[in-house]
Amino acid sequence: ATPTAVMVGTGVGAKNGILIKGAETLENAHKVKTIIFDKTGTLTHGAPVVTKISLFVPDATLFVEKLLCLVASAESNSEHPIANAIVNYVKSTLDVEITGKCEDFVSSSGMGVKCTLSHVQPMFSKAESSALVKECKTLNLNNGKVFMLNGASVDTVDLQCSSAQNDFNSSLIDVKADQSYKVLIGNRAWLKHNNITIPSVADYIMSVEEDLGHTAVLCAINGIIAAMLSVADTVKDEAHLTVYTLKKKGYSVVLLTGDNKKTAVAVARQVGINKVFAEVLPSHKATHVRNFQQEGIRVAMVGDGINDTPALAQADVGIAIASGTEIASASADVVLMRSDLLDVIGCLELSRKTVKRIR
Ligand code: ADP
Ligand code: MG
Repeated sequence: ATPTAVMVGTGVGAKNGILIKGAETLENAHKVKTIIFDKTGTLTHGAPVVTKISLFVPDATLFVEKLLCLVASAESNSEHPIANAIVNYVKSTLDVEITGKCEDFVSSSGMGVKCTLSHVQPMFSKAESSALVKECKTLNLNNGKVFMLNGASVDTVDLQCSSAQNDFNSSLIDVKADQSYKVLIGNRAWLKHNNITIPSVADYIMSVEEDLGHTAVLCAINGIIAAMLSVADTVKDEAHLTVYTLKKKGYSVVLLTGDNKKTAVAVARQVGINKVFAEVLPSHKATHVRNFQQEGIRVAMVGDGINDTPALAQADVGIAIASGTEIASASADVVLMRSDLLDVIGCLELSRKTVKRIR
């Protein structure tokens, strides 16, 4: 029979926005030693915005909006926070309908997207486009141009273009409705998977953004690197206090993310976590949880996304943030209804007190 203490504990939890599914969870949570946090949408708000675009072309001014149109068309088929950031940015900056017919769309979770686009309407004439750019603040930096476009800085980078790159650039400046373009956007692993070589300058430009805690993705058009787009997410207000309190109570706190290592470390530093597993594919998040368990360590996993679902199920206690995806909440043992990270501590404390009353 379920002891009344468990019923009381569950009730207290519910009253405080901590939805605990089942008596077992409440009885197990106090045995947990390690708390693993997902990054995007869990420690951060998960609503990144575009902050920087680097174009690997000689004349960015004619090129930027056409490239953005291709990128946004491709990303409008994805529901990833990065995709949303890019689509919102393009819509608000250029104030145009995103056109283009997308075929053979592929989305690889934890890596990126690709598709073939046709019927892309050229959005601006040459004159209109240079007028648009003149409105922006222009600075000269390292002989490239830097200008601000709706909050994000846009610059050009000389990749010491090969002749193939030059041919491609001049053809792309006139995006034609009757032509089709292979558009690919994602992280280093995604480019490698598609046999696209990343020039060292592009790699360097990504790493500068990553050191700031931003997430950088590359865009290739017809197999050639055309741009870097960087998005920045913000850390939740209570993230640092949550980690600090957990550590003070003797828990080991870990960050587990699909994002780049540098980005992950920069965010971990902001919230006070010093154990980081980065560049972990969604399918491998659960493996990391299992590794802890095989060492006899009981684990709580805190996450929000579809990509966290297997890890939430594998953990001794899976804790989902209600503001995240429904599927994460469905596969977790605990749902934080207020989406407040401090409730992770509340949940563990509730378990400890409940078990004390049973004994
Ligand atoms: P997290 O563990 O932080 O929630 P994900 O596993 O969802 O991250 O994604 C990992 C990485 O895969 C992203 O940081 C990004 O580099 C790349 N990625 C995934 N989806 C997309 C997309 N739609 N567009 C561009 N890049 C993407
Ligand atoms: Mg997430």
